[in-house]
Amino acid sequence: MLEPNALTGADIDRAADRRRRDADWVRAQRLDPRARAVVLGDAGVRASGSALDLAPLAEVLSADRPDEELVLLGADAYGPLFVVDEDPPVPGRRAPLVGAGGMRGEPAPEAADRLGLRNAAQTLSQAEGGLVAYAGALLNWHRATGFCGVCGGATTAGEAGMTRICGVCGTHHHPRTDPVVIMLVVDDPGDRVLLGRQAAWPARRYSTLAGFVSPGESLEEAVVREVLEEAGVVVGPPVYRSSQPWPFPCSLMLGFHVPFLEGTIGGTDDELEDARWFSRDEVREAAVGDDSWDEPPAGEGLLLPPRSAIARRLIDEWVAG
Ligand SMILES: [Zn+2]
Repeated sequence: MLEPNALTGADIDRAADRRRRDADWVRAQRLDPRARAVVLGDAGVRASGSALDLAPLAEVLSADRPDEELVLLGADAYGPLFVVDEDPPVPGRRAPLVGAGGMRGEPAPEAADRLGLRNAAQTLSQAEGGLVAYAGALLNWHRATGFCGVCGGATTAGEAGMTRICGVCGTHHHPRTDPVVIMLVVDDPGDRVLLGRQAAWPARRYSTLAGFVSPGESLEEAVVREVLEEAGVVVGPPVYRSSQPWPFPCSLMLGFHVPFLEGTIGGTDDELEDARWFSRDEVREAAVGDDSWDEPPAGEGLLLPPRSAIARRLIDEWVAG
């Protein structure tokens, strides 16, 4: 039985149906005394130890906030669940990703009682990690969609946060999910895998290759193209393994194993600082540890991504298989 990936498994009814279009129903969710909120902001998600700290909605939502600007996640067994942005974007200024933690110049996470989303994936329960991925991706989209991409007019939230509607031209904007292929290139006859590293990563860390799917491209085509661009080698038909939401800002990672066919390592898109083959023994030795995102252990030898990342899962599956 396949274990679920981190950042999946939110135990929630998303109410992704006509209920969201019923203003009376939405108001009743807001006024429900059981209503709680995931509190998210630049520094991360509100947490207490290794559990989410869900706040009573009335405590964290100002009374003058119109119903139209609510972002309802849905309902769990205890009642309605919202997400509240504690650092709403300032017009005209770039809004950081919620709780991303330094990867693109974002503010440092881990303020008191706050958990950055990367570490939340490792720390929280399966269901709470899934809930945070959902809330984070949705908030990142709201932050980036204050203005209409068609005419530039200001937008307001609709359907309890599941659309944004332009006040000028009326276009409905829907939450984005950006597909990213992520793939482990496997050389079976050589019993080795191809891993690469970006310059910004901690020293010695290597991971699977990955890249955004282009418009008008199938997943299979994206895998073959990205491997060729990043590493310069030709691969055969990809085999799908599993997927993982990645709320930085709103990606969906689609994981594959893909067989090496031919070629010598040498990418052309300058995304990787280095790419090389690793033997099964090298990878197995490295796969004993589960390194943190920020503070890899001292020492020598290959470092892999943490187990909460689908990249690591693709590697561990090969080691085990
Ligand atoms: Zn518009």
